[in-house]
Amino acid sequence: MCGIVGFCDPTTDRAAEALNLLLAKLQNRGPQGAGAVTYDYDGKIHELRGTGSVEAVFDGRSKLDTLPGYMGVGQTRYATFGHTIQPFVWTQHGKPAALTHNGEFANAITLRREAEETLGYAFKSTSDTEVLIPYLMHAPQDDFEDALIDVLQNKARGAYSLIILYDGKLYCVRDPHGFRPLALGISQNASIVASESSAIEVLGGQYIGDVNPAQLVVIGPSGIIETVQWAKPEPKACIFEDVYLANPDSHIEGASVSLARDLMGKLMFEETGWIDADVVIPILDSGLHSALGFYEAMLRYAAKEGKDLIPMKAGVHRSWFIGRSFQEGEQIAREILQRIKSNVIAAWVKAKRVIVIDDSLIRGTVMRIIVELMRIAGAREVHVVIPSPPPIAPCAYGIDTYQDELIAARLNGNVDEIRQFIGADSLRYLSLDALRRAVTESASPPVRTAANFCDACYTRQYPVTFEQDRSTKPRRR
Ligand code: SF4
Ligand code: MG
Repeated sequence: MCGIVGFCDPTTDRAAEALNLLLAKLQNRGPQGAGAVTYDYDGKIHELRGTGSVEAVFDGRSKLDTLPGYMGVGQTRYATFGHTIQPFVWTQHGKPAALTHNGEFANAITLRREAEETLGYAFKSTSDTEVLIPYLMHAPQDDFEDALIDVLQNKARGAYSLIILYDGKLYCVRDPHGFRPLALGISQNASIVASESSAIEVLGGQYIGDVNPAQLVVIGPSGIIETVQWAKPEPKACIFEDVYLANPDSHIEGASVSLARDLMGKLMFEETGWIDADVVIPILDSGLHSALGFYEAMLRYAAKEGKDLIPMKAGVHRSWFIGRSFQEGEQIAREILQRIKSNVIAAWVKAKRVIVIDDSLIRGTVMRIIVELMRIAGAREVHVVIPSPPPIAPCAYGIDTYQDELIAARLNGNVDEIRQFIGADSLRYLSLDALRRAVTESASPPVRTAANFCDACYTRQYPVTFEQDRSTKPRRR
């Protein structure tokens, strides 16, 4: 997964500052590296990229000064396969071009081989993203837009939200399923495009909508120049964006992510019913919004049924300034990081029956450590509540998960075995039906139906077949 951004403001020469802020807001989507390419009034591009946080890469005025220009694109990186930090740059008909991509091309292996064999293209990276470039470079069409649409229609398959900078324009695209989001915004003289609407708000901009599935939106100095529907849309937005990936203060296709999570929590309580316990503890920060929904439903029930209220406490302290453990590379590093990151506060759990709520269980390793730390701190019982279903299948659309690392996949979705793995006294998941309700009812009136979502990691119903082997996580990547 990645966060991608584009910015254009003809009244400034400091688009890089805006790109920096947009990327800083999107680090939830990839804290492992960042890059930006800007375009100046002389038609030249300027590039900066590096590993680590956005702050580390763009730190200081001197670095931003190396990126003059009124327009640019950028990316926060989350490695799928390949280690290249985008944007990719190349020369298209004698002019510089830059591309950022969020997602994963489902036919990257074939496209790569074909580009090497038939176009004689020498790849510079192992990234799936680069496969588009040879086809654009060698396109017979003179007009870039025509070439791009041809490549999208005839070559690209799978998950891609793209922003391409070329010849003073930004070309913003989503694949026909719209797996990954791409939001549009405006602010005074600026046009903004970003993986999530909350990044637009950071710049004081207004979210005006999304690039729709199978749509191309062309942005120039005057704003949106053109909108082209280049294929028939078959929306399959990633349901896991609502569960975990997206910032809670974002809207995806008009629907609030926080509201969807709140609903997941409420529906979770409807499904689990009352649990005898002494304290509710949300796992910050991604578990908070669904935990609040769960707790609100619990309070209403307690009031109605005359049950004793139990408190919700911040019993697991989250240390900031450490990346999301879900996205770290190696297992050992992840466990050590997790211990640094989340510490259990004994005062809230000692001698208590605890309900712990987190958004999802992926590998189960984080929750396993938290349950263990709670026991060490003296918890009597630990009941784990996950307001989303167990992911039983890997994602091939940009989330880079493998069958053998998903705890629910490894244990064939057997909830009791998963419970044993994390060491909890009980474990409850949200049903898929309830998750579908939450993501559709989070907009009123609803803008999407359950059929408009990809939920392949819960169902194995993959909207697009893919070539990459996702059974075993490569050991060194
Ligand atoms: Fe999202 Fe899961 Fe579909 Fe991947 S497989 S796009 S994580 S819903
Ligand atoms: Mg979390």
